[in-house]
Amino acid sequence: MAAREFRVADEYTYDRRTAVRWIASHVLRYPWLIGGFALATACLTGMASMVPVLTGRTFDAVLHGADGRQILLLTLAVFGVRTAQALFALVNNFGAETLAQRVQRDARDELYVSLLGKSQTFHNRQRVGDVMARATNDVQQLGPMINPGMRLMSNAILNVVMPLIAISTINPQLLLVPVLFLVSFVIALWRFNRELRPVAGAQRAQFGLLNASLAERISGIEVVKGNAQEPREEARFRANARAYRDAFVRQGHVEARYLPVLIFGIGLGLAFGHGMLLYLNGAATVGQVVSFIGLYYVVREPSYFSLYTFELMQLGTASGNRVLELLRAETELDENRGGVTQPIRGEIAFEHVTFGYGPEPILHDVSFHANPGETVAIVGQTGSGKSTLTQLVQRIYDVQEGRVLVDGVDVREWSMESLRSQIAAIEQDVFLFSRTIRENIAFGAGGRATQEQVEAAARAAQAHDFIARLPNGYETVVGERGFTLSGGQRQRIAIARAFLTDPRILILDDSTSAIDSATEDQIQRALRGILQGRTTLLITHRIAQIRWADRILVMRRGQLVAQGTHEELIATSDAYRRIFAHGEPTDAPPEVAHAR
Ligand code: ATP
Ligand code: MG
Repeated sequence: MAAREFRVADEYTYDRRTAVRWIASHVLRYPWLIGGFALATACLTGMASMVPVLTGRTFDAVLHGADGRQILLLTLAVFGVRTAQALFALVNNFGAETLAQRVQRDARDELYVSLLGKSQTFHNRQRVGDVMARATNDVQQLGPMINPGMRLMSNAILNVVMPLIAISTINPQLLLVPVLFLVSFVIALWRFNRELRPVAGAQRAQFGLLNASLAERISGIEVVKGNAQEPREEARFRANARAYRDAFVRQGHVEARYLPVLIFGIGLGLAFGHGMLLYLNGAATVGQVVSFIGLYYVVREPSYFSLYTFELMQLGTASGNRVLELLRAETELDENRGGVTQPIRGEIAFEHVTFGYGPEPILHDVSFHANPGETVAIVGQTGSGKSTLTQLVQRIYDVQEGRVLVDGVDVREWSMESLRSQIAAIEQDVFLFSRTIRENIAFGAGGRATQEQVEAAARAAQAHDFIARLPNGYETVVGERGFTLSGGQRQRIAIARAFLTDPRILILDDSTSAIDSATEDQIQRALRGILQGRTTLLITHRIAQIRWADRILVMRRGQLVAQGTHEELIATSDAYRRIFAHGEPTDAPPEVAHAR
């Protein structure tokens, strides 16, 4: 079984081998809709061929001096057949559209569930805009592929078969020209298709690129504006937009060289000549020639639609492929469902851990040990690997060498769900969802927390006062109408979130240094509260916090260069002393002190 970071919902069993199989497996979930649709298509196209046959009969009837009653009956028959045709067209359309919408919905579900289940490494590699383009536009493209795409396609096929049958009942010789037409038509279409495929693929890919770069610029708009880079970004956007347009134009060039319409025109002349020849030889009546020409027009129908239909099919499969690429991308981590699930006591050990995001190692041979309930401070210059080290405890990434142990058990042997649900991390830069403050605090508890519990957590995190002063209190929606929280406020929301989930291991990545002393004080109090009785990995630049730690790890370029208590390190470690070299105690970040 493939590695998988969390199975979120029920297992889907779609066939993911090729785009066509995948789409087919989606469509086949609805056999009743397909059955109804197929029946309606058969009736619809059968009726379409009956009309010219009846028309020809009417001609013959008139020419042979039939009475008014007979002609009236034939006219009514044509009327009836047309009406029935319209009704079947309705069923046909309705069935196809329902199918299209359901498949789109299922595919969207499948993709979303699969994205949630993928590892952090996977998401780091993906560009958000590209994923968004696949999840919205590409999934949406599956709809038109089914309706009108597949609907027109199946109508087209039957609209060839039915008239051919009707023509063969008039006079099998008459099949000659329509069959010739169809053969050359199929060849032309096949060539057309071969040319269109790469162009359609390129057009979709270019759209993904355009979208991805736009999404990146918009999420990074502050940086763009702050650096007055609008003109350059505009130029880049233009280049991308131009490339997208060019892809469209290339597609237009291919489409302009579409031959079937011409082939049909030549065929019509030949068919008429052939019909007249048979009439002159007495092998066909006038009415039969009229029927024949009418049926030939029915055969033409596919050549009308096939251009558009093929485009839809191409775009649909191209999109299907792009969605499949995301679905199929393997994740490196396995959630290990059957792994260890037990309450964590909080012992953490690193044994000769080496790790890198890519081939280059970022952490080299790191070993340390923390007892349950201890606070371990991690210090070191920026980029020395502090945040990376803490992510290994939650198993956001797997180590390349050595082991990370929690309560003496390798994190790879833990059930990921059990491990991560008992570890809370307050990141360097706290992410809040565009939901209410209450929901943001209750997030980790799966939204099950009551208002009282949320408030208690907020109080403990020193966040209640500022939340109460917000216009809608706990119901204030983050990000709505420009409402945002400051860094210090976000941090306290994150602490409140952690209070609610009551984790055994806590990771605090507290590198924000620009906080006023009143807020600083509140955060200190909040932290002291939450550290109680939990093993804590604390990344900080604040000397006061470093001092309370039971153990301090000094990181330097991915190596653990010293560890011990503050007193021990001051006495033994050069690297540690250098951090405090320029007069202590200081609240300035160590790397700043170091740089002075
Ligand atoms: P800071 O004090 O600035 O937060 P840090 O000690 O937390 O620094 P890390 O974030 O652990 O440093 O980064 C260590 C190294 O790993 C850096 O060289 C960084 O470029 C690299 N790195 C961090 N995150 C990733 C990632 N997702 N993919 C690739 N490389 C990364
Ligand atoms: Mg960091």
